[in-house]
Amino acid sequence: MDIKVNLNTILKSIPKEVTLVAVSKTRQNSAIIEAYQLGQRIFGENKVQELVQKYEELPKDIYWHMIGHLQTNKVKFIAPFVSLIHGVDSVKLLKEINKKAKQNNRVIDCLLQVHIATESTKFGFDISELSNAINSANEYQNIRIVGLMGMATFTDNKQQVIQEFSSLKIVFDTVKNEDITILSMGMSGDYQLAIEQGSNMVRVGSAIFGHRN
Ligand SMILES: *Cc1c(COP(=O)(O)O)cnc(C)c1O
Repeated sequence: MDIKVNLNTILKSIPKEVTLVAVSKTRQNSAIIEAYQLGQRIFGENKVQELVQKYEELPKDIYWHMIGHLQTNKVKFIAPFVSLIHGVDSVKLLKEINKKAKQNNRVIDCLLQVHIATESTKFGFDISELSNAINSANEYQNIRIVGLMGMATFTDNKQQVIQEFSSLKIVFDTVKNEDITILSMGMSGDYQLAIEQGSNMVRVGSAIFGHRN
């Protein structure tokens, strides 16, 4: 796998208003540095411990995104530096992020994860719970809801994936405002479909770094 070739190919193929999060979970620092040397500055991780370790070891101008499921008792470890939390799926978690952000004198940007897949394993708010979550976030001074995040069902059924992404885009259009501008959807296997359906942030790992073990 040639990281530089892969990254350049992807960057060329996506519109410039779409932000690429290079998903570096399980990867060595050396692989991340290769992407960094090409100018990539946004990296996504899904495990708190790994994220903290990479933050400590790698250049400080990297923007680290937490893309995985986040447990409330681990928020404190990433609150000092995390740049965007994608998978916020409960008001309880929002409250905890607010608390730890405040202790660090920060405002932390968050995306609310919306449950769009048919699989019951995917986390997220139901569409019906969303406006309530956005309203409760307004009470918190140290978090900012900047958008929505969703994951499609893991399936070869392209029509289903398109339908799930498009349903999230419709929801996004109903909640977007000055602050809520990011729609994070699409991974290696489906980022093109996601962009066609209105995504402006894609989270791509294996298409850049190769298959994970
Ligand atoms: C691992 C992961 C990705 C990237 O997956 P690839 O298929 O390697 O591109 C994107 N989003 C989330 C939430 C992930 O956990």
